[in-house]
Amino acid sequence: MKITLSKELKQKPDSSKLGFGKYFTDHMLVMDYENNAWKEPEIVPYAPFQIAPAMNILHYGQGIFEGAKAYKNSEGKITVFRIDDNFKRMNKSAQRMCMPTFDAEVVKNALFELIKIEKDWIPTQPGTALYIRPTLIASEEVLGVHASKKYKFFIILSPVGSYYAHGLTPTKILVEEHFVRASIGGTGEAKCMGNYAASLLGGELANSKGYDQALWLDGNEHKYVEEVGSMNMFFVIGDEVVTPALVGSILDGITRRSCIEVLKKYGYKVSERRISMDEVVEAYEKGQLKESFGSGTAAVVSPVGLITYRGKDMIINDGKMGEITSFLYDRITGIQSERYEDEFGWVTEIK
Ligand SMILES: *Cc1c(COP(=O)(O)O)cnc(C)c1O
Repeated sequence: MKITLSKELKQKPDSSKLGFGKYFTDHMLVMDYENNAWKEPEIVPYAPFQIAPAMNILHYGQGIFEGAKAYKNSEGKITVFRIDDNFKRMNKSAQRMCMPTFDAEVVKNALFELIKIEKDWIPTQPGTALYIRPTLIASEEVLGVHASKKYKFFIILSPVGSYYAHGLTPTKILVEEHFVRASIGGTGEAKCMGNYAASLLGGELANSKGYDQALWLDGNEHKYVEEVGSMNMFFVIGDEVVTPALVGSILDGITRRSCIEVLKKYGYKVSERRISMDEVVEAYEKGQLKESFGSGTAAVVSPVGLITYRGKDMIINDGKMGEITSFLYDRITGIQSERYEDEFGWVTEIK
């Protein structure tokens, strides 16, 4: 692999003030596709791309991305969490968006080289990590509407703290009844850029009313829970942990899968099924809605303290983080940081 090192290294940010996705390391990985084939990946200095105004991605949004994390412990051991699942999902997203799939092993090995070069950028404080952002965009210069013939794949790295400024304080969520994020047959299950563009207005409206996120309902009946922002949703109703089934409009979150697998292993009753807002309200009224949380790579597990639906405020677990939410947060971050044994085989060391 060709590696071009940066002549001037950047100053590293104070690891107590990282925030999310604000700082980028000195290098990045790039890999181009043309003439029906991928070229070799390359490591180059992090720098702006040359982008033609006619470039396909700018007009028709044929683009996908991923999100994963790398960790470093106090002895300098570097690990990644379930990275194969990210590249597998990215190839699935690529197929949905009419983009070429890639050899996940080649890309993974190139990523590991990049992470080794950037090892001094990996923060070590609890709650911090090196966020990995693989991206694939259509790069042909043409205005005709068809799948691009050229693509650019790249991976950038960003040292991150906790996703939300207020850490593990439970979030406030407004159920969005008018706008939808995705519908069945659409692109909801692909991690594509347009899904986020479609979700911004509902999210901003929720923010303007003092909520952290909008909760999306299904696109057909506006009745069933789908997900929030960049997280899958969970509810604890009585002794059952419920998360919406992957019906096609919901992203198959890797943290969602991790939550389900941990809960099952530790004897909790977990159901992946459709869950309507009517059911959530009914459970709340009967005192059966014990906890709610979101799951995603960025925040891992994020407790929900308030859900507002049709003007009704449902305060969950007194607005505090619940027992099962805490258990999952502790277990998953514990496996990631090696506080707990990796009994699921999710952690890969980068040597
Ligand atoms: C990425 C993402 C998630 C979370 O997926 P993870 O693999 O757990 O990070 C959930 N919903 C949407 C819409 C996403 O884009």
